[in-house]
Amino acid sequence: MPPLIFRKGLDLKHEVAGTLAESYHSELIAAIKDSDYQYHAGRLTVHLAREFGFCYGVDRAVDYAYQARKRFPDRPIVLTREIIHNPHVNAQLRAQGIRFLSDPGESTDTLTPEDVVILPAFGITIELLEHLERRGCTLVDTTCGSVLNVWKNVRRYTAEGFTSVIHGKFWHEETRATASQAACGGGHYLVVLDRDEAASACDYIRRGGDPRRFVAQFERASSPGFDPDRDLQRLGCANQTTMLSSESLAIAEMFRDAVRSRHGDAELDARFRSFDTICSATQDRQDAVAALLDERPLDLMIVIGGYNSSNTCNLARICEPRVPTFHIAEPGGLMSPSEIRHKPVGGKDERVSVGWLPTSGRLSIGLTSGASTPDNLVGTVIRRLDAFANLGKSG
Ligand code: SF4
Repeated sequence: MPPLIFRKGLDLKHEVAGTLAESYHSELIAAIKDSDYQYHAGRLTVHLAREFGFCYGVDRAVDYAYQARKRFPDRPIVLTREIIHNPHVNAQLRAQGIRFLSDPGESTDTLTPEDVVILPAFGITIELLEHLERRGCTLVDTTCGSVLNVWKNVRRYTAEGFTSVIHGKFWHEETRATASQAACGGGHYLVVLDRDEAASACDYIRRGGDPRRFVAQFERASSPGFDPDRDLQRLGCANQTTMLSSESLAIAEMFRDAVRSRHGDAELDARFRSFDTICSATQDRQDAVAALLDERPLDLMIVIGGYNSSNTCNLARICEPRVPTFHIAEPGGLMSPSEIRHKPVGGKDERVSVGWLPTSGRLSIGLTSGASTPDNLVGTVIRRLDAFANLGKSG
């Protein structure tokens, strides 16, 4: 019997709406939005970016997870991995007894038809989906429509004999899922992380090179059996939905130029395709933070979101060249008026820095959060900023 798959919710949206609002909504944030996205208290002014926090895909994924718990109160419910990259949201789900297959001791091999498996917003690989179907599990698919759009594009590239060049992180769940779609039916893909990796691949397109060295460089970021002499002939660009938009566009242009320089203008249409697959929520958040930096003189910027959240890291990357920027995972990162626990932009590890908050004079702080950060956490950060900035002062 084919497995049961829920793709459009479980008809319990209204029943879980109250719990979701209690868990993730913030009255303070709603009030700040009504006050031109500004919060004033004593010497502190906080400027919120006009787009921040939960995106439509995350909203839907969390909603479906709560609906699944309600619909199947007595059945085991498991997530393939973190539903989204936010420790607070994932902790809330664990508190409801939802298990994570990525935890030690868990395995997809022990799943049974009794298990209800929630597929995350960023999707899963074809191989994992087939495995879950073979186990007969009930599936609740929350894959975001914007991710499905990327899949549609790379599948079309494959069908037309193009290799998919994916600007993304080869280890990220979404990019792994997209790569599996590109590889379906014998297609090829190459994942490039940044301009440097793109430049390396473009250099090969222009001048050729040592195929073994190329394969070694992209060993974990290319389809099995990748042959650069064969598989860099016809290229279709796509990207992980949460990358830095300006970088994705620049990388697509680099590949276009390389193909043109190797094969000439006349061949370009037959050998190169590009489709910008940055999702609109990511784009809107990046545009909003850029606008905030343009419009307001800021003393510092706080970016809230999981350290493994690609879209959050990219928001911090936009801010960092222009203003002192602190990427914190959760409100507790604001430890005291003198200490902050954060991940430096481009760094790998969390660290504690001192002297992050100017101790006198007026303070203007910019604030944004990634697509997987709920409003209540942003509200808590603002309360802490207020308490720290105005410590010992009234009004
Ligand atoms: S960041 Fe974009 S692609 Fe990812 S879940 Fe949100 S809306 Fe969907």
